[in-house]
Amino acid sequence: MIDFNRPTLTGKEAHYMYQAVYNGKLSGNGMFTKRCQAWFEERYGFRKCLLTTSGTDALEMCAMLCDLRPGDEVIIPSYTFVSTALAFLREGAKVVFADSMKRNPNLDAETLEALITPRTKVIVPVHYAGVACDMDAIMTIADKHHLLVVEDAAQAIDSYYKSKIRNHKSQILPLGSIGHLAAFSFHETKNITAGGEGGLLVVNDERFIRRAEIIWEKGTNRAEFFRGEVNKYGWVDMGSSFLPSEVNAAFLWAQLENIDAIQHKRKYIWETYQKRLKPLADKGCFSLPDIPDYATNNAHMFYLVLPSLEARTALIKYLKENGVGAVFHYLSLHSSEFYKSRHDGRQLPECDRYADCLVRLPLFYDLTIEQVNTICDLIKTYYQ
Ligand SMILES: *Cc1c(COP(=O)(O)O)cnc(C)c1O
Repeated sequence: MIDFNRPTLTGKEAHYMYQAVYNGKLSGNGMFTKRCQAWFEERYGFRKCLLTTSGTDALEMCAMLCDLRPGDEVIIPSYTFVSTALAFLREGAKVVFADSMKRNPNLDAETLEALITPRTKVIVPVHYAGVACDMDAIMTIADKHHLLVVEDAAQAIDSYYKSKIRNHKSQILPLGSIGHLAAFSFHETKNITAGGEGGLLVVNDERFIRRAEIIWEKGTNRAEFFRGEVNKYGWVDMGSSFLPSEVNAAFLWAQLENIDAIQHKRKYIWETYQKRLKPLADKGCFSLPDIPDYATNNAHMFYLVLPSLEARTALIKYLKENGVGAVFHYLSLHSSEFYKSRHDGRQLPECDRYADCLVRLPLFYDLTIEQVNTICDLIKTYYQ
């Protein structure tokens, strides 16, 4: 059996976790937490980074920082994970679901502006499969209407956007560095993991830094106290316990040290799939991931889009019978049991098409090229 996913392991995780245990400091914001946060700030130029216990938590912190009032509207793609919407719904916002593009599942920037009303406060682009949304277009619309942008970069570690308009020159920007705030996930299904669960809040807009630290530390100014900036700490705002244990940060550190090797291997797997399946895509059996010129590929996911739900169901069944764990992905959130009665009734046909027709193939660090070839051969046989 070839599993759909196996968590990335570099070999150093247990070593650093052992160190964390015998350092005698296990709670959050210790040496490994600070080391990881500094690494992200240095490598990607993120203004301020805070590790969280999950990507969901990082999104919840973003939603709290947006300081929403009841009735405020947040625009979110319907083709995403529940947490993207739930984080904002919990803050009392009204979620307005946007459709995906024809070319890939990302939020369609061309139909975005039509969704904006006087109550709109935030746009949440999700970089699906680690492939950038059209951030120049989205940031331009957000600036024009004075909206905040929260990037759901859960899948987008080490991926980039080629901007043409920021500072009036072409430059390559890491995903997560463009919006006012961003959230990453280190769940075991993502490219790098903090030991099963983990996440990162990125604050790019200075105005949110102080409050982010307070929300992170249960509504207290403890972070300032530990830096010696105040001589006692207390309850100053809303918050929760969003910081992970040092054991998780130690696990994550082993992965950060090896991120280039992890990414190199994942890209090699992705490109092998792409090369070997292209002839079938050219014949019209399915379409392959479409990476726009403005985006890079971080090899988070390799997927096929089939012509129909029936075709997808049949392919998943065939692969399963032959020992391959291929899976479909999101169901449309606008027609979910929980949200459908609140949705405004607009049809989101592209989102529904991905919900019905997209299938993900196994892609993880330890997957061998022989296994990739086996999967591609099976798919070829299926279509003969
Ligand atoms: C994984 C994921 C999340 C949630 O991250 P967790 O770490 O599992 O809480 C949110 N949004 C997207 C797009 C994701 O892929």
